[in-house]
Amino acid sequence: MKKILSVIMAAALMLSVLTIGFAQDKDSTFGAYKRVFIIGIDGAGRFIKDADTPNFDRIFKDGAVNYTARAEVKTDSGPNWGAILTGVSYFKTKMDNGVVGSVERAADTDYPTVFNYVRRANPDAVLASYCNWGSINHGIVENEIGVEKVNIGDDEKLTDAICEYFDAGNTPELFFVQFDSVDHEGHSHGSKSDEFINQINVVDGYLGRVYDCLKENGLLEDALFIVTADHGHTVNGGHGGITMRETNVTVAAAGKTVVKGGKLDSDTRNRDIAAITLYALGYEKPEEDFTARIPADLFEGVDGEARPVSKDFADYIISALAWVVTLITSIV
Ligand SMILES: [Zn+2]
Repeated sequence: MKKILSVIMAAALMLSVLTIGFAQDKDSTFGAYKRVFIIGIDGAGRFIKDADTPNFDRIFKDGAVNYTARAEVKTDSGPNWGAILTGVSYFKTKMDNGVVGSVERAADTDYPTVFNYVRRANPDAVLASYCNWGSINHGIVENEIGVEKVNIGDDEKLTDAICEYFDAGNTPELFFVQFDSVDHEGHSHGSKSDEFINQINVVDGYLGRVYDCLKENGLLEDALFIVTADHGHTVNGGHGGITMRETNVTVAAAGKTVVKGGKLDSDTRNRDIAAITLYALGYEKPEEDFTARIPADLFEGVDGEARPVSKDFADYIISALAWVVTLITSIV
């Protein structure tokens, strides 16, 4: 009898340990990742969906993808890479293309990037930003915070440099890439052109190379891998407005706690990548002007957060009005 009781008690104990383990797993995304990789495809908007992208498809086979997340209301590169990296609206950062191209970003900026937040919490973190469009490393990513900044105005050569960086044994906690050739084709030929869609396929090849370099160097374990875009393009080419083709952008994530087949909710913005990045690495969300949020249907067991509207009410109203116009003009 005593033996049976002890077996039952042992079984109950094991079950409770398993249950606790499971409960912790469900809520263990915060800080569950050692590294975040953000790969930006400038100008690709929602159109990754329309191109032949075998690498994107294999990378996000078990991941979460939203092709219709929203860009900042001014659908240019500065406002959007600025928002993606700071979690703050363009309405506040005012990081338009002219500003980020001409004004160097200081370490004590009012709108710190995710690089800066990681640096403040971890003086030893390895951080790097590899960009085709040099303005990002000039006017968005801060100077003197120890981010290795590399600017190469050719996506293929940029990919070579990225793979060399990883093959050399670098192990960044946060790594950002911006490819730019899709945007060039968008400007030249528009978002319905074969040239534009084919270039997304070419950059998909670079994406695959970066991913495989990470894999070969053992850096994908405990990594969150994100692909996004800053804006799309009109039919005739160009951006800056609020048509659906310019405003819809891709946000895709792959990692051990990402919902397989997740869609991310309809309030998702590319700006939210700042919140997703800090959450995954285990850093508390900043106060002040930070209005990025964790979308629903992204991480297992993690509910979507409400956007802190009151922090940036003007942006909220402008974005909402712009979105109504976007919806109406996309129907008529
Ligand atoms: Zn752009």
